[in-house]
Amino acid sequence: MAMISGRAAQDGRDTALSVLDHLPVGVCVVAASGIIHHANPVLHDLLGCEAGGLPGRSLCEFGLDGCDGGGTTADAEGIRQAMRSDGSLRWVTVAAASWAMAAPGTEAGYMADEFRLLTVTDVDSVYCQGRAVDDCGPTGAPAGEMPVVEALLEASPVPLFVKNAAGQYIAVNHAFSRLTGIDRDGMLQRTTFALTSPDMAEEHVGRDRALLEGDGSIQYEAPICTAEGVMRMVNLTKAAFRDDSGKPAGIVGAIHELTEVRPNEERLDAILEQSPIGVSVSRRDDGRIIFVNTRFAELIGLPREKLIGSRARDYYLDSNQHLRVLERLRGGGGVTNMEVQFKRADGSPFWTLFTVNQAVIQGIAVNLAWIYDYTERRSMEEALRDMASRDPLTGIFNRRSFMDMARAQMARAHRFHEPLSVFVLDVDHFKRINDTFGHATGDDALRMVAAGCQAILREYDILGRLGGEEFVVVLPGATADESRVVAERVRRHLARMPIEAPDGTFRLTASIGIAGLEGANDTLERAIHRADLALYRAKHLGRNRVTVFEPGM
Ligand code: GH3
Ligand code: MG
Ligand code: MG
Repeated sequence: MAMISGRAAQDGRDTALSVLDHLPVGVCVVAASGIIHHANPVLHDLLGCEAGGLPGRSLCEFGLDGCDGGGTTADAEGIRQAMRSDGSLRWVTVAAASWAMAAPGTEAGYMADEFRLLTVTDVDSVYCQGRAVDDCGPTGAPAGEMPVVEALLEASPVPLFVKNAAGQYIAVNHAFSRLTGIDRDGMLQRTTFALTSPDMAEEHVGRDRALLEGDGSIQYEAPICTAEGVMRMVNLTKAAFRDDSGKPAGIVGAIHELTEVRPNEERLDAILEQSPIGVSVSRRDDGRIIFVNTRFAELIGLPREKLIGSRARDYYLDSNQHLRVLERLRGGGGVTNMEVQFKRADGSPFWTLFTVNQAVIQGIAVNLAWIYDYTERRSMEEALRDMASRDPLTGIFNRRSFMDMARAQMARAHRFHEPLSVFVLDVDHFKRINDTFGHATGDDALRMVAAGCQAILREYDILGRLGGEEFVVVLPGATADESRVVAERVRRHLARMPIEAPDGTFRLTASIGIAGLEGANDTLERAIHRADLALYRAKHLGRNRVTVFEPGM
């Protein structure tokens, strides 16, 4: 097809064309390619071009032609919005007639071209009645329908847009402006490239093209960028519309913000499946499970099919915990992050942070439960708690936790009028052991003494390290005399116990002082003090012995 440059068009001017220049309506001669060959001053003015600026440009640029692919001219006639050079829109009517024209002195193809004469009449004041141009609604809508379309657009809380076949926005509503942050003046004539990244815009263009070529509507999710630069995921619903002759004329679309719509089931499923938290839904009436996610199945160690239909209560380790949860639910409330122990299919327990709420799903009253596997965290916490209560060298209770537990035993003994006694054990000449074998061997010896005591003591006796090479024991239920027997066994056991040193083994001895509970007002501190006095006596008497406190010591 012949392309005519502006220069060639100017050269082709003849007297017939100059007549057009005096007409009061916009007139142009257009080649089959849509390229303007000649245009009169009124049209220049109408389209906002400088004199002589139109020849050589395409009708398409001004929205006056179909422009649907390849630059071929489509139906140009009818009411439409012309786009002026400055981007503003103006309602015009276009009439076309074929125009036989001899154009001298140009290449052969030029002669073969069919020309049309287009008359463009400015009807903007009629259609817009003095309002802003962008308030005028979509291109080509019959005059009588304009207010209805406009009202519909504006009344819609859903962002709506209309694009022409070239992909330019020709109408958008207030909701659209609110969402995108771009006012309607700013949006008209612009394309989807104004709203999103070039890559994404290309995708939209591809989908629009498919839609224009095919039929029906499409729906897809895409990110858009607001004027403030915020990315938002939206759901786009688009449909192509056709002109009177059935040709695709453009696209109407609606935008749903995903944050505002209820997530669809597919997305919910995906979220549930990827959740690190076990989720179950059980019916309130019979407690039977009707839904579990993969994590829940993993935690319990049963396939979904086995879990569905089983009862939630079967997975509680402690039925009292189950009752506590039920009580809260019956009271109309829920449970949030309660520490609950569940059991796996193999019976092994695991700690969870458990949350349950009541809900109604599809008319069924259900309990929605979330279980978060807490076992590791919890065992770590237990280990930390344990560490804080233990003496790091020997692993037995440190002074503080020993005192706590011993005091509790003391209170119990008072309450039930039961006997209780205390003994304090001190390693004899321990300084020499350190001096002779070194501090590390001294440490080993202390560990051995602790282990040696533990081996002899009963399960409910409490052993602690008071500090240095001094240990303390509370013997609930034992009188001072009964304690003496135990203490003697401890002393003998320690004295016989070989301890590894760098060059062979050695043995050590210890002295023990004992004090029994005295009266209802006796305290642990006083009892330990008396035991200390008895210990002092034992040392004085030659060490490696057990002494029970006596008044006057
Ligand atoms: P006595 O028979 O009179 O009890 O004499 P002793 O040497 O055992 O008594 P003394 O209290 O004078 O010495 C205790 C020593 O224990 C002093 C200190 O260096 C040592 N010791 C205290 N704590 C530790 C420890 O954790 N590791 C080691 N290796 N030695 C310790
Ligand atoms: Mg000492
Ligand atoms: Mg000592």
